[in-house]
Amino acid sequence: MTVVSIQLTTVRQPPTNRKVKSVSESVFIWCLHCERAYHRDKARGGNCAYDDCDGSVSFDGWNWNDIREGREDRYPASPEWGKVYSQYDD
Ligand SMILES: [Zn+2]
Repeated sequence: MTVVSIQLTTVRQPPTNRKVKSVSESVFIWCLHCERAYHRDKARGGNCAYDDCDGSVSFDGWNWNDIREGREDRYPASPEWGKVYSQYDD
């Protein structure tokens, strides 16, 4: 006798795109291109606030709070303008 068990109860959470979601909630945005952070009000249209950078907010912008995570001692809640905050410093 063969018992065929079909699992219908698997409930998966939809994949959370934490980056995109949190960027829209974040006041400060960290740019993947230039590794600098800026206030979202300073973004040049959909682009990085720094005019020597061609990064975009939606593709290259990360939530500053995600970058800060675990580095709160070195990365302030309000990032310094023009300062490079490397993502891979440790
Ligand atoms: Zn940038």
